[in-house]
Amino acid sequence: MYKSFLIKYAEIAIKGKNRYLFEDALVHNIEYQLKNVEGDFHVRKENGRIYVDAEGEYDFDETVEALQRVFGIVGICPVVLLEDEGFDKLAEEVVSYVDRVYPDKNFTFKVDARRARKNYPMTSMEINAAVGEKILEAYPQTKVDVHKPQVMIHIEIRPLINIYSTEIPGPGGMPLGTAGRAMLLLSGGIDSPVAGYMISKRGVTLEATYFHAPPYTSERAKQKVIDLAKKVARYSGPIKLRVVNFTDIQLYIHEKCPHDELTIIMRRYMMKIAEHFAEEGKCLGLITGESIGQVASQTMQSLAVTNEVCHMPVYRPLIAMDKQDIVSIAEKIDTYETSILPYEDCCTIFVAKHPVTKPSLKHIQISERHLDEKIDELMKTAIETTETILVDAE
Ligand code: ATP
Ligand code: MG
Repeated sequence: MYKSFLIKYAEIAIKGKNRYLFEDALVHNIEYQLKNVEGDFHVRKENGRIYVDAEGEYDFDETVEALQRVFGIVGICPVVLLEDEGFDKLAEEVVSYVDRVYPDKNFTFKVDARRARKNYPMTSMEINAAVGEKILEAYPQTKVDVHKPQVMIHIEIRPLINIYSTEIPGPGGMPLGTAGRAMLLLSGGIDSPVAGYMISKRGVTLEATYFHAPPYTSERAKQKVIDLAKKVARYSGPIKLRVVNFTDIQLYIHEKCPHDELTIIMRRYMMKIAEHFAEEGKCLGLITGESIGQVASQTMQSLAVTNEVCHMPVYRPLIAMDKQDIVSIAEKIDTYETSILPYEDCCTIFVAKHPVTKPSLKHIQISERHLDEKIDELMKTAIETTETILVDAE
């Protein structure tokens, strides 16, 4: 029924001189997502608008789903485009459009005409009134309601005439590739994939680092993280995933440091190693799935102590979110089912029964001195033996 989609984007429009960069990124990202949808699509910019035209057969639902994964899109409007062949032809097309889109005619409507081309021989008000009349004549069951119409029929007079009445919500955010890159600390849990998705939604390109501890954590646990990265990559594009073997560092901390401080010290070394790879990849920040108070290692005191080792900004998009709200996003982006698979996590292998909840930096630094002898060597080995996997959506 539709051959084109009108793509609406909001925030980009306010970017002044950079606007075309954002639009070009958006066009490119739309093309990228549509590559995996069957059909022949053309994406074009036209006077501050983006259109997707489909040639021949295509799957409507699949196309919309793909567009709903393109950050920067606010609304997806299936649109009918016509040449301007006079008002009578326009009215006729609108009447036929209404018939095709709304088989049941019991609805209230309003016509909202706009002229981007001011040389059209009728004013917007005149178009509204005249088209409204034609619809009422053709379908006497319909009613006009100018305040709260059930159906808003948009008619835009542009080089071509645009007719549309539905706007399917897009994901919002900013086009990928317009904001730099960041390093996600990706575990197998619920939170970090959501954190990565949220930052990526602001146009940030993602890399990721995962710490595993074989043989304490299994190959399945690692595969789970790769699967999560694949799910996130459906939105964020390909992710370079670093898999760090953390076993020797963890065993060494376990041997030398007080057990109630283990988690926090371990987290500090994770941050340091992730930051190393972040610098290497020219990332501008780290991303974690931390949220205040969620667990002992995420009290404000713990967060301060973990943060202290980092030189880069650490982005924590979930910081003020409740678990249920995080779960809702995980469900929406389809990471939840994978996240709850019960495989071991290197954070939970060596943890103390009663971890410190209010660590003091001074204490932690004193404990870490016990690691002086071997830790640099172990960090170096962990970095050198890190495996890099380029993960893409399936
Ligand atoms: P998640 O659900 O993301 O695993 P969590 O609630 O289990 O988070 P923690 O285990 O305290 O919380 O981890 C906090 C954050 O630290 C994670 O969101 C993630 O960014 C990072 N992190 C934890 N464990 C790992 C790991 N094994 N590899 C990479 N990053 C990790
Ligand atoms: Mg976790």
